[in-house]
Amino acid sequence: MVGNPGAHGWTHLSDGVILPFSDIDCDGIRRFVQSGLLRVDTRNQEETYGRAVGRVLAHELYHVFANTPHHGTQGVAKAAYTARELLSKVFHFERGEFQALRAGKTKAVISASAAGQ
Ligand SMILES: [Zn+2]
Repeated sequence: MVGNPGAHGWTHLSDGVILPFSDIDCDGIRRFVQSGLLRVDTRNQEETYGRAVGRVLAHELYHVFANTPHHGTQGVAKAAYTARELLSKVFHFERGEFQALRAGKTKAVISASAAGQ
């Protein structure tokens, strides 16, 4: 999410520019997925919760690396997701968002190279 105070993660904008850092509300994510997490085998709860937090972080890093405040219509880059999606074994970026990430990374490497970094 970008600038949505009700989200579990957010990336900040300054004068319309995406800033290169994000915040994640781990406790908020825990509360959001708690009932579903309790139905997961106790041996897998920690991994499942970690994956849910990782997906929220991946969403925020999508904004940073694709350099966009916009969302996809499906997958990790969409504007909102359910607890079930965060806890599922398969929930990933869709092709368009994946390509935006790759293009953004390429652009960052070229910029750093041109700046002599
Ligand atoms: Zn977002």
